[in-house]
Amino acid sequence: MGVDSVAHGQNYVDGRWEDGGGAVLEVRDPATGDVVARVPESTERDVDRAVTAARRAWDSWRWVNPSVRAGYLHATADALSAATDRVAAATTREMGKPLPEARGEVEKLAKTFHFYAEEATRITGATLANEEDGFTSIVEKEPIGVVAAITPWNYPVELIGWKLAAALAAGCTIVVKPSEYTPTAAIEVFRSLEVAQLPSGVANLVTGAGTTGRALVAHPAIDKVAFTGSGATGAAIVKTVSGVKPVSMELGGNCPLIVTRHADLDQAVTGALRRSFRNAGQICIAINRAYVHADLYEEFVGRLAKGAANLVVGDGRREENVDVGPVTNAEILERSERHVEDARTKGARVLVGGTRPPGRPAGNFYLPTVLADCTQDMLVMHEETFGPVIGVSAFTDLDAAVALANSTPAGLAAYVYSENLGEVFALGRRLDFGSVAVNNVDAGTINAPYGGRKGSGFGYEHGREGMEGYLQMKHVRVRHHA
Ligand code: NAD
Repeated sequence: MGVDSVAHGQNYVDGRWEDGGGAVLEVRDPATGDVVARVPESTERDVDRAVTAARRAWDSWRWVNPSVRAGYLHATADALSAATDRVAAATTREMGKPLPEARGEVEKLAKTFHFYAEEATRITGATLANEEDGFTSIVEKEPIGVVAAITPWNYPVELIGWKLAAALAAGCTIVVKPSEYTPTAAIEVFRSLEVAQLPSGVANLVTGAGTTGRALVAHPAIDKVAFTGSGATGAAIVKTVSGVKPVSMELGGNCPLIVTRHADLDQAVTGALRRSFRNAGQICIAINRAYVHADLYEEFVGRLAKGAANLVVGDGRREENVDVGPVTNAEILERSERHVEDARTKGARVLVGGTRPPGRPAGNFYLPTVLADCTQDMLVMHEETFGPVIGVSAFTDLDAAVALANSTPAGLAAYVYSENLGEVFALGRRLDFGSVAVNNVDAGTINAPYGGRKGSGFGYEHGREGMEGYLQMKHVRVRHHA
């Protein structure tokens, strides 16, 4: 498709591309506001067709040898790699991140498919001697069944792919409902499954907004719901699921950074810049708030503000060397403005940013913003902004800083910079988050479990644990000759 033509997207059901039976959903480029795609606003009937196909396919896919499933996953990874530019272009067109970042997302997803291809061949149970002679217990792991996957728009390729790869590796079939803001990135991922010749019905895609998502999670033939998104939607989904079934939730962040007096300041500033403003701050594990020891505080905020001022804000699709694209929708723009205004009113210093960039009347652009002298009552310090905004506060007592870091409902990821080994181990333990990254800002890696606690959800993605969520155990107790 050309840069400015409007894409016509379809659902992928039972191995075929098809239009939905309902209205059409328009997708806009956040850098310009222009319509760039039209996709189905899928109806209950469309959802039912997809779930029925997945249910039918499960009867055979569940028995497919794991090494054969692995072959499909490796082939999908190769197809994704070959389509990197196309998938990345679709991503940037509808959610705004700079093209190199979008390419990186596709490359990482290809690695994820290879990883879960290997994991598919390593599903192991156990054989146990019983307390009575003449009995043996076999503990097997079996796929859960048909999965409903609901995903957001900030990492529209990876967040779909993590669920797809892990569920298919486990032997589940799946129906994906991507975000209404990023359906064509999902369509491009599904093209790779098609190239890999995945059997019909094993993976299905229905586009649409919350109503479509609600119909999917409410469908009685779904065996597990895998959700990534906001806490509010997560809570709604828990109420909507029909019957009793496992639900995994990857929810919002509001992640803290602690910079102790023993930190390497250069590294801490570089890390904060990267994890606060990459993807325009629209990362569940973005650093939203920083607690910095008073000895380093002024130097830290000064350098952070200078670094933020040097970031190039622009259209990630049409301009070169852009660091920060537009935020994806008006809601994020409004929340960023509201959080900054709230902090300003309560006494924060706006060191840099705090406005939309001058001279860009169109598009959802917001300048990278550093707020100094923040207090915990400011929204930015206890609510996820999900935009390019960081609040910074000074501390003298490390215990008090840990208490503040732990004081919000979020429990996804926390960051620490310290060169003192004792501090590193203590903070690694005492921070109540699913991931703690020390002297780096990459809180997730493919072979370690990634998930939130408290208000940030439950269940894991990545690692073997990411696949375990799609498996259930069975105990077969065999009586035999002693
Ligand atoms: P959202 O909750 O608004 O939407 C997520 C998905 O849920 C979309 O596909 C949407 O159409 C669907 N949906 C909406 N209402 C629904 C309903 N009633 N039933 C079923 N589905 C419904 O979230 P968003 O704005 O797309 O994403 C931003 C949020 O996602 C942030 O809070 C962010 O922190 C979170 N997130 C978390 C992680 C993580 O790994 N923990 C990763 C990325 C994003």
